[in-house]
Amino acid sequence: MNRKEITKNVFLKTRRCSKAAYLEYYHPEYKYQGAYSDTILHRSELVKNLARQLFDNGFNVKEECQGDLVQNTEYRIQKGIKVIYNACFEHNSEKCFSDILIIKSDTVWELYEIKLSTKCVAEHILDLAFQSQIIHTKYPHLKLHCFLIHIDKKYVLEEVLNISKLFKIVNLSNKARHALPLVKRILMASHKVLNSNKIPNVSPGIFCTNPFNCEFKSYCWKDLPEDSPLNLVKSWEIKMYMLNDQGVKLGNVPHQVKLTEKLWLEIDCLVQKRYVINKRAIEGYMGDICFPIFFLQIKTLQFPIPLFKKTSPYTYIPFQYSLYEVASHSSCLKHKDFISVSSKDPRDGFIKSLLKDLGDNGTIIVYEKKYTEARLRELGRIYPKYEAQIFKVIDRLKDLKEPFENRYLYHYNQNGSHELKSLIAAWLPEVSFKSLTIPDSATASRAYEKLLTTKIGNTERSNIKMDLSEYGRLNTYGLAKLLKILETIVIDGSKEA
Ligand code: SF4
Repeated sequence: MNRKEITKNVFLKTRRCSKAAYLEYYHPEYKYQGAYSDTILHRSELVKNLARQLFDNGFNVKEECQGDLVQNTEYRIQKGIKVIYNACFEHNSEKCFSDILIIKSDTVWELYEIKLSTKCVAEHILDLAFQSQIIHTKYPHLKLHCFLIHIDKKYVLEEVLNISKLFKIVNLSNKARHALPLVKRILMASHKVLNSNKIPNVSPGIFCTNPFNCEFKSYCWKDLPEDSPLNLVKSWEIKMYMLNDQGVKLGNVPHQVKLTEKLWLEIDCLVQKRYVINKRAIEGYMGDICFPIFFLQIKTLQFPIPLFKKTSPYTYIPFQYSLYEVASHSSCLKHKDFISVSSKDPRDGFIKSLLKDLGDNGTIIVYEKKYTEARLRELGRIYPKYEAQIFKVIDRLKDLKEPFENRYLYHYNQNGSHELKSLIAAWLPEVSFKSLTIPDSATASRAYEKLLTTKIGNTERSNIKMDLSEYGRLNTYGLAKLLKILETIVIDGSKEA
């Protein structure tokens, strides 16, 4: 039988779901293609190139060779090259690339896998074990040491980037060795899946989203029946129940299943297609809101490599805010925003402009107060001259999440979620992000990241600024419209704004 090539992606996917492994090989076009995966790819390349500088002057097989990369790797090893990047090995149609290979001697090699993460997880061990399994079958006499290079979150950038402090190197040789029997079992399963001539019949389950979303989720879940418990976001209790009974539907979840009151309410709303409107609770929430009312959304970037002095990997860098203001009952909404498009540290300009735009009075409506407050406190610590003003702003913040999270107002189309985008989709169908060049948060961060890490001209810079502004404006407009719905309920009991 013609054996199919097992790559690291197929191997790792087999562990989670045979259908994902099959789709990875035969239908990669079904994968989610969006700003998020684009960002990961771009960052991964940047970080790998940087980490390779820990072992300078290596030969990059992928970049410097054409044709058969396995043969090219072998040739470089025979030529006595000691540091090889993207070394390629194959055995039994199992194929891997190693980020860094160090040939210490004829019998001792070191393998380094570079990751964007700030700690080691089980998948990293399996990844190294997969590579060492393939290399060992070809070179059984070798003593192979396996290392993970990951980012050290505690590193603080001073004047210039210090690569040896930015990365941590962890020796995973023993763990990778112990994982070899598991690797062999997974590889057998991978061969079986790829040699089958049809997509494995795997019903969607909680493993599709836990611990992270499967890349094929939009393909697999597109025909999910409306009454599937999987449609309810975070309905862990029902999902756990499903593990034992795949046939359960939202309309027939047995009453003996222990669920929270909130979850029973969500199920009932979805089955009956109804809303919840708790006018008294909404009145209580609205009680202390005073004019001028501001609607504020801030956008931040978390980048693996610190870009500005005194920042660490993944420090939140606020680069944009969008602000609507309504001065009184009879006033119109007025929009302002701040967007940094230069490659300089945006934080001082950001907070200075924000404090000016927010003035001294009025309620500031935000979504996820905790997040906004944390970012403001960070800015207060970095710029003590603004700290007192920042504390006053924090006192004025009011979280629009509260009435939705507590189900004072709930729409069956929220599907158990109270994320802002679910609320806008359920309550404000006229507010659509689809036609925007930047339609979501991941694309917004990616656009700003591009401004910081890529050489681009002024025209593209100003286009990105316009697109970011439009995205921020629509989000903040959504906040204002949601508050209007609450206000209308308080005034006349109707949900129409
Ligand atoms: S979405 Fe779920 S069922 Fe589909 S491939 Fe991914 S893990 Fe498997």
